[in-house]
Amino acid sequence: MLKIENLHAEIDGKEILKGLSLTVNAGEVHAIMGPNGAGKSTLGYVLGGRPGYEVTAGSVTFDGVDLLELEAHERAAAGVFLGFQYPVEIPGVSNVQFLREALNAQRATRDEKPLSGGEFLKLARGQADLLGMDYDMLKRPVNVGFSGGEKKRNEMVQMGIVNPKFAILDETDSGLDIDALRVVGDGINRIMRAPDKAVLLITHYQRLLDYVEPDFVHVLADGKIVRSGGKDLAKQLESEGYVGIAA
Ligand code: ADP
Ligand code: MG
Ligand code: MG
Repeated sequence: MLKIENLHAEIDGKEILKGLSLTVNAGEVHAIMGPNGAGKSTLGYVLGGRPGYEVTAGSVTFDGVDLLELEAHERAAAGVFLGFQYPVEIPGVSNVQFLREALNAQRATRDEKPLSGGEFLKLARGQADLLGMDYDMLKRPVNVGFSGGEKKRNEMVQMGIVNPKFAILDETDSGLDIDALRVVGDGINRIMRAPDKAVLLITHYQRLLDYVEPDFVHVLADGKIVRSGGKDLAKQLESEGYVGIAA
């Protein structure tokens, strides 16, 4: 599904990704772990198409298509979802307005009819129910005044609504208490664990991986994957730290 080869990327003239290669097949969950500043979020942004990042070498294909040639909205329409480490606040735009626009824009690129307000609300409420989110939060401005955990939960509601094919989730577990962690973990499994979908789960901690069991774990350090293994690698990292393992 996703094939990253020798990816080099920089921001403001500083090289952050330094030859990263990774293949993700349909049906797989890959965890990316690694020390602060390793380039994990940068990888997510480059895959999501965030402006400001310059790819200087390498390639990324998604279902055989050159992902790097697509605009961010075209990537979303192709089924790529990026969950941010720091979800943005959008004052003045309600969650339902935002989510409905996003979904209908994607439907348009597939020649599907836009959902009406009523149809959309039904879908949104269904997802809110599944994620244990209050309907009131659907009406509030996007993420404004939401706690860290609420933003992450909201992001999972958004993911449930757009129902992507490939999700890059950047520290979705940060700011979550134990109960919220389980709800979010269950949500990821429910929405994304399917033979035709895949997930790149960026996380500092092993704890989310107790709920969303990865098929592969990779250590990203200084812009490259320096170690890959199965889910036991995450446990080993938790007990030993990155220092010995990344070396
Ligand atoms: P991680 O998510 O693994 O903690 P990031 O991808 O956020 O790491 O950051 C990787 C590196 O890129 C860090 O050293 C960070 O300081 C640097 N970086 C991020 N944005 C910029 C920028 N605009 N200019 C220069 N360096 C940046
Ligand atoms: Mg970080
Ligand atoms: Mg980060």
